[in-house]
Amino acid sequence: MQPFAYHKVRDAETAIAHGARDPQTIFLAGGTDLVQLLEDGISRPQGVVDISALPFDAIATTIDGLRIGALAKLADVADHAEIRARYPAIAAALGETASPMVRNMATMGGNLLQRTRCLYFRDGVSPCNKRAPGSGCSARLGHDAQAALFGASEACVATHPSDLAVALLALDAEVLVVGPSGERSIPLDRLHRLPGETPWIESDLEPGEVITAIFVPREAAGRAQAYAKLRHRASFEWPLVSAAVSLALVEGTIEDARIALGAVAHKPWRAETAERLLIGRRIDDALAREAGEAATDGARPIAENAAKIPLMARIVTRALQDCARQQAGDPS
Ligand SMILES: Cc1cc2nc3c(=O)[nH]c(=O)nc-3n(C[C@H](O)[C@H](O)[C@H](O)COP(=O)(O)OP(=O)(O)OC[C@H]3O[C@@H](n4cnc5c(N)ncnc54)[C@H](O)[C@@H]3O)c2cc1C
Ligand code: SF4
Repeated sequence: MQPFAYHKVRDAETAIAHGARDPQTIFLAGGTDLVQLLEDGISRPQGVVDISALPFDAIATTIDGLRIGALAKLADVADHAEIRARYPAIAAALGETASPMVRNMATMGGNLLQRTRCLYFRDGVSPCNKRAPGSGCSARLGHDAQAALFGASEACVATHPSDLAVALLALDAEVLVVGPSGERSIPLDRLHRLPGETPWIESDLEPGEVITAIFVPREAAGRAQAYAKLRHRASFEWPLVSAAVSLALVEGTIEDARIALGAVAHKPWRAETAERLLIGRRIDDALAREAGEAATDGARPIAENAAKIPLMARIVTRALQDCARQQAGDPS
């Protein structure tokens, strides 16, 4: 681990000032991802600013929707009665995240900004443009069954591993931030960047900006919604592929659909062809399968990740079937 200056802050202004002074400063929340990266020498900041004592952990319903503090623990959000009842896609995504121990430490903001699970990035030695700009991309040259199917570049084919981000994209959530230029909100879809030629720039956040909360519009609570995930083992594992679906239904007919895919791109990815196909139709098993196939539209496999394409179709189908069961009043 490279030595760094450690600052524990009690107010957002001090955190922002540290971040604005030195763009290489990293914020520490629950530490479940960052500490590993520091220990392995993958992150080498001059300064670490511990924001865990900031008052950003409340979960509150407002007239417009739901506001979840960025420092709320995943376990508390997953168990929150209103979130389970009205935003079940969030509760389901968090319920399938990591393990109970990790969920007790990990925070909402940290989950969204966790780094990729690309093995070459994490091994600390292989050429990797994200870790060592200009060194090359071992995943593109080597074997990577996890690589992105959408939005990848010559420079990087990594995927974003968050379960939560996928559910939030399907619910049209926003991320609220505060920084040197004041407060602003970022639609979830614009929080993460595609890799392009600069895969080390992963989010839209400016130096010194802290995520304070996640906002989910009230309209999302009225939708049928589901989250489904496929992984190599039944717990304690990031997604191989995942999908979140939210449907606005009027007397059983789909008026609007949002489908988000996970672990298939550098950011959570909208399946827009499948969304369009659902509009004006009634959800049933056949339509769920048709939309699952449509969700693979535009996928660009490289060598060893083509197996994720049929898995993606199945996981979207499963999430839509869950919505159909909810519609039919079947709790299973
Ligand atoms: C064994 C294991 C299994 C896991 N399995 C899964 C899984 O199945 N699915 C899944 O989605 N995740 C999984 N995770 C990832 C885990 O959910 C994240 O590590 C965790 O959510 C990160 O939150 P944290 O508070 O610990 O963030 P930290 O590790 O403290 O920080 C992570 C990043 O976020 C930044 N950051 C944190 N909070 C803020 C903020 N408020 N404003 C600005 N920047 C901020 C930090 O600077 C850092 O870059 C797993 C982790 C482990 C260790
Ligand atoms: S896919 Fe991205 S993170 Fe993985 S080795 Fe290539 S540049 Fe690095």
